[in-house]
Amino acid sequence: MTLSTYRKKRKFDRTPEPKGSITAAARRGSSLVDVMQKHMASRLHYDLRLEWGGVLLSWAVPRGPSLDPAVKRLALQTEDHPLEYADFEGVIPAGEYGSGTVLLWDQGTWQPEKLNADGSLPEREIKFRLHGKKLRGSWVLVHTRSMRANGHRSIWLLIKHRDQYASTRDITSDEPRSVTSRCLLSQIAHDGGGDVERASIGDLPDTARSKNRATPAQEIGKRGKRR
Ligand code: MN
Repeated sequence: MTLSTYRKKRKFDRTPEPKGSITAAARRGSSLVDVMQKHMASRLHYDLRLEWGGVLLSWAVPRGPSLDPAVKRLALQTEDHPLEYADFEGVIPAGEYGSGTVLLWDQGTWQPEKLNADGSLPEREIKFRLHGKKLRGSWVLVHTRSMRANGHRSIWLLIKHRDQYASTRDITSDEPRSVTSRCLLSQIAHDGGGDVERASIGDLPDTARSKNRATPAQEIGKRGKRR
């Protein structure tokens, strides 16, 4: 595990994101950090980050987590992030990698439920418990396939296990605010000199946002071609 890809993608004289200096040794003995960041970038997604081996293993979850065990959410593994990233909330400037607004949507600790005999993390199926402020209980990340293009290392599914924290309520729409600042994306964008109008689209409940997406004028006129 290394931060070289993370550092290569960013210019630290332009982005407020941390370069990363906390070492695995400095953190040893404490519980493992878990964070979910709501990120309004070229499109809205939620970044799940789990501390392991001195870095934050990272997955971009386009539709965010679901508490319903019947719902599988796509999770694209992205580059390892530094541990300091677990406290990052703010605006990544226009033109920089991942430009947009980042909101600390959930924070807490996690525990793997099963490890390999040598103490390493299973490569295909990571069963784990979350002790966050919003996300709790047992979850699983299942590796489905690898994809070479676009820098995404592999494609996973994020699924809630059936337990007392499972539910059909729409937690991403019900609880849009930051767990640290209590801000919405639009307020963070405003305070950080970001794109407030665009961030406010991320503040809409899921249902309203899909209607918004379907408006041709918004699609073509304002943002141009989107991937
Ligand atoms: Mn992201």
